[in-house]
Amino acid sequence: MKRLFKGARVVDPVNGRDGAFDVLVDGDRIARVDRDLPASLADGSEVVTLPAGLVICPGFIDMHVHLREPGQEHKETVATGVASAVAGGFTAVACMPNTNPVNDNAGVTRLILQKAQEANLARVYPIGAVSRGQKGEQLADIAELREAGCVAFTDDGHPIATAMLARRTLEYTSMFGIPVIEHCEDPSLKADGCAHEGPNAAALGLKGIPGVAEAITASRDILLAEMTGGHVHIAHMSAWTTLEAVRQGKSRGVKVTCEVAPHHFTLTDELLGAPIPYDTNTKMNPPLRETRDRDAMLAGIIDGSVDVIATDHAPHAADEKNVEFDRAPFGIVGLETAIPISLHTLVHPGLITLSRLVELMSVNPARILSVTGGSLSEGAPADITILDLERTVTIDRARLRSKSKNTPYHGWTFRGAVAATLVAGRVVFADEASGVSLGARG
Ligand SMILES: [Zn+2]
Ligand SMILES: [Zn+2]
Repeated sequence: MKRLFKGARVVDPVNGRDGAFDVLVDGDRIARVDRDLPASLADGSEVVTLPAGLVICPGFIDMHVHLREPGQEHKETVATGVASAVAGGFTAVACMPNTNPVNDNAGVTRLILQKAQEANLARVYPIGAVSRGQKGEQLADIAELREAGCVAFTDDGHPIATAMLARRTLEYTSMFGIPVIEHCEDPSLKADGCAHEGPNAAALGLKGIPGVAEAITASRDILLAEMTGGHVHIAHMSAWTTLEAVRQGKSRGVKVTCEVAPHHFTLTDELLGAPIPYDTNTKMNPPLRETRDRDAMLAGIIDGSVDVIATDHAPHAADEKNVEFDRAPFGIVGLETAIPISLHTLVHPGLITLSRLVELMSVNPARILSVTGGSLSEGAPADITILDLERTVTIDRARLRSKSKNTPYHGWTFRGAVAATLVAGRVVFADEASGVSLGARG
């Protein structure tokens, strides 16, 4: 079937578009994007006139998500994870290998892909483990995992255990032109820390994790990427010192890219003490840091040093989080809050343009992972995120599609929402509150 979208602003940086365009979707593809396309092009199918304030963008891609299946289905499954993704405006997610069993073999990769196919909502790109069992000893079978569909490699949850293993991984993945995603953390400096090392953690009696614990591992891997010609992608960057290392690497031409999670450019460790002291929904790894770090993440997003906004969606059950701060697991859910947070704190105040946000959340993740998407080019798959710039949303954890509700943003109000999500031309999410009427599900 065909569907012609009229009246919307189209933001598609790859094709240099930001303005009023019509978009014709034919089946699972983008057929035409141009000004004032005639309704007759829809061949009697649906013509959708979008209300003012709605924006058509290439589908957003979250390249850092924990779907928890196999092994921890009480926190999330592939099915609930992708339901959360499309409600949050993401047409695709890349999922981390720290499941149980670990995604270190083709069997697990195929299981994840099969579950994703059954759910049939967002696209799912598995990320393979660097080491067998993520134990940091033997390299996993990178070729087999890639063949099965893994788009990148990481031991996320932990850093790659040794410089030698990181070197071998970068050498090997460089042959395939795929990135190594690094969870940067020096284990000896992190020790049993559970919050950012500084006055706030000290006042609350919490053991600290210094920012340089992150920067040291990032620096190691940037040097190794430079030596090997491999591509290292720094996950969930949080410390200003890490950003400095990334900038220096980029200036030398090293293949280094990086991502920042919404909580690291909006929140600081002051939240550990108030309004809810020791709220375990403020505990994540890397931890919320101090103002200097938060402001550096914003600066990097503004000046182009940061390549990607990714959520590090990390669902945990209520009873797991409802314990003493130092015993609670690290992590928060993020898929359904990332777009409202980003529109509200980055785009509306004018820190970045909407076009730059599309680069951070669609163009660059597609490019880094070498996956489909990132543009509304004619002939491309019709993966589309429709934003509603003006609608305000108040985050209500009870209404999250994710199986887990661990968010520090409960009750927060943001200006900017997701109106609809289309994957391969099919409407997989639509919020009637945005006034989008999308007829029969194609
Ligand atoms: Zn991590
Ligand atoms: Zn993670």
